[in-house]
Amino acid sequence: MQLLERVKNCNGCGACVVPCKHNAVKLFDRNSEEAMEHLPNHHAKQTAEAAEFEATGSYGSKEASGAKKVAILNEGACDKCNACVLYCPIFNPVDIPEFDEWYEYDPAFDERDMPKYYRETMRMARSGKHTEFVGTLCQIAALKSLNGDKIPQNLILKPLLCTKEKQEQEPCCRECEFYK
Ligand code: SF4
Ligand code: SF4
Ligand code: SF4
Repeated sequence: MQLLERVKNCNGCGACVVPCKHNAVKLFDRNSEEAMEHLPNHHAKQTAEAAEFEATGSYGSKEASGAKKVAILNEGACDKCNACVLYCPIFNPVDIPEFDEWYEYDPAFDERDMPKYYRETMRMARSGKHTEFVGTLCQIAALKSLNGDKIPQNLILKPLLCTKEKQEQEPCCRECEFYK
């Protein structure tokens, strides 16, 4: 069963990629052929909205185009261990800290290889070194989920602010659970 069928409003955080021993989960641009093929019915409205954004030029802007990804599972390689979905902070929510200080979001942050960044961050934090992680709230939730729902004291979180304007650009961001 596809992750998109179990995870409403996948935001492409990439947490589900990390625990898969078979490398069976990959992130694709939300408007890619692969994503469209697997987007289930409950995503149809979002997909239509994304197409509308693209048609009107908003979703297709440099800042937004292809910025958001979705997780697609290669069912042929999957042994149905469920680890991917259990570490998904949408499927299995984690509490995230309240922040007083915020950092400005830049589209360049979307180009990062997040699964690799989570792994490197956790490795460094576990070695006891001072470690900093810069990410949106969904990425912070992903990191916390992957780290057993814990944030060690030497891991400093620097949250990127998703403005209302940014949230409006992405269908899944409009349904964001991390901004109340
Ligand atoms: S962890 Fe959940 S929200 Fe994040 S990319 Fe995977 S399925 Fe989507
Ligand atoms: S269920 Fe297990 S094997 Fe299948 S994609 Fe998820 S983590 Fe990988
Ligand atoms: S609004 Fe920000 S925190 Fe929420 S899903 Fe979108 S990128 Fe993630």
